[in-house]
Amino acid sequence: MFKKNILLKLDKYFRTFFFIYLGIIFYLSSLTSVGNTGIFNFAHSDKIIHFVEYSILAVIGYIGFRKYRNYKIKLLIFGVLFAFSDELHQLFVPTRVFDLVDFSIDIFPFVILQFIQNPLDINTIKIKGLYRNKIYELFRSIINDIDFRIKKGGEFTVWIRDNFIYYFYKGNYFYKTKCKKCDPKELKKEIYLDLKNFLSRDISKWGLIYMTRPIKKLHYMQGSLNEKRTKLKKDYLVSREKAELLIKLYNIEKKILNTIDKNTKALYINIPFCPTKCAYCSFTSYSLKTFSKYYEEFISCLKKEIKKKLSNNDSSSIKIIYFGGGTPMSLKKEDLKDILELIDNYINKNQLIEYSFEGGRPELFNDDKLALLKRYGVNRIAINPQSLNSSTLNKIERDHSIQDFYNAYNKTIKYDFDIINSDIILGLPGENYMHHISTIKKLLELKRINNITVHILSPKKGSKLYQKGYDYNKSVSKSHKKIKKILQKQDFEPYYLYKQRHILDNLENIGYAKNFRYSYYNIIMISETNEIIGAGTGASSKILKGEKVITQRNPKGLVEYIKTIKKEL
Ligand code: SF4
Repeated sequence: MFKKNILLKLDKYFRTFFFIYLGIIFYLSSLTSVGNTGIFNFAHSDKIIHFVEYSILAVIGYIGFRKYRNYKIKLLIFGVLFAFSDELHQLFVPTRVFDLVDFSIDIFPFVILQFIQNPLDINTIKIKGLYRNKIYELFRSIINDIDFRIKKGGEFTVWIRDNFIYYFYKGNYFYKTKCKKCDPKELKKEIYLDLKNFLSRDISKWGLIYMTRPIKKLHYMQGSLNEKRTKLKKDYLVSREKAELLIKLYNIEKKILNTIDKNTKALYINIPFCPTKCAYCSFTSYSLKTFSKYYEEFISCLKKEIKKKLSNNDSSSIKIIYFGGGTPMSLKKEDLKDILELIDNYINKNQLIEYSFEGGRPELFNDDKLALLKRYGVNRIAINPQSLNSSTLNKIERDHSIQDFYNAYNKTIKYDFDIINSDIILGLPGENYMHHISTIKKLLELKRINNITVHILSPKKGSKLYQKGYDYNKSVSKSHKKIKKILQKQDFEPYYLYKQRHILDNLENIGYAKNFRYSYYNIIMISETNEIIGAGTGASSKILKGEKVITQRNPKGLVEYIKTIKKEL
């Protein structure tokens, strides 16, 4: 590290020496004979001299120019041009010739250079100056192994000031670049490219995209598919792999959305209770062990809210219903019946294209509730194990067993719901590639499951997992890739995706469906193409005004929600 620091400080001398050294090569090429004389009189000595001569040039260039963006490829281009001109020069020197073998040997060190990785050791980066919050948020979300800071000092500092971006390394001024356009998007791009250079690695396959809904961008982006693809790569620096994935899912979503009326609305009902709080969870969910005292009041408020919202809306346009949470299956049987009945009074179930019930925790599935759901028209039900490894379930405090999951599945299939969904999470504590593959394979043995969502852990500060500092495997890319292959082999096709901040490996959550058993709600919720009427704690209603989406959020806090509904209704 010490050496690296010294070399970085001495870079300007190396740049000067680089140009002097070019002159030396030119001089040596002007001599009528260099190899095959004196100490150089051995077999292929001229070739070895060429290699050593250009290796020195490549190393000096590497040290001198490594701060500059794309310096390796630029050095290669320069090396090719200079070596070619050097050979041309020798055409005019007696006894020397233009030799293609020499030319190839000359450029070889510059080719090797492309594969040399010499990243700066950066653990903490401080962002200062213009738009620092936006830039901080981007990098904090896409680079897992570096601690980004706004206030405290860092080993590396990025300072945006007076149309320049300044970089400081270990307290010393290091490099500056003029911002082409000093707006947040351009600054992000400039800094992204510089960091990629300093770290000598690809930062993120998603480039500058870290928001939840990347596909929404495509729905609202002007131009042909090819233009959209180019914009993703050029403007957002998205890799080819992710750009193709986005384009593919965008096309699938468009086809699915074309089958439903633009005026189709969804009703979303959020049930905030869960039997226990899972260790990885940062959603607004309330463990019934602690918050059951609010249950009755919540149910009464929820019914009032549903009634009010359904009375105020043209219920014939509501064709999608989705119960989410929390854990909707934590509703008591009588309350579940009342709520289903209430909805049934307003919405004709024959008009529905989807009626989803995110059952959630398998230990709560029973015949009474499943029969009710079937009777009121639910056609998609989710049973979520997250992992099919016992020790993991204990670690994440799920409070249910693997057997509970199989029992729930066996009960559910008796009611012949059209779609059975299961969610899994990659990156849970104690799990590795083998665990992930084992979970997906076990899930695929259950032939009635035709909709699977593969989530990637996003360790959020609000979760117990983060607070207690659980040890988890941060690298899940290999599992993510393999699972995609396994699912596609079994005819599961990806149909929607979303991202989360701090998601491991900066990956994405993907929903897969077999035989077109999609969830319309998941698509419209992520792409924000249709209106949503939300009811329950933390539920969001989405109202479309042209290209604008107006979001109205219910209070997230249980007590606050109850107070608000009581006051308003
Ligand atoms: S069941 Fe879902 S919502 Fe409830 S605590 Fe677990 S992860 Fe959170």
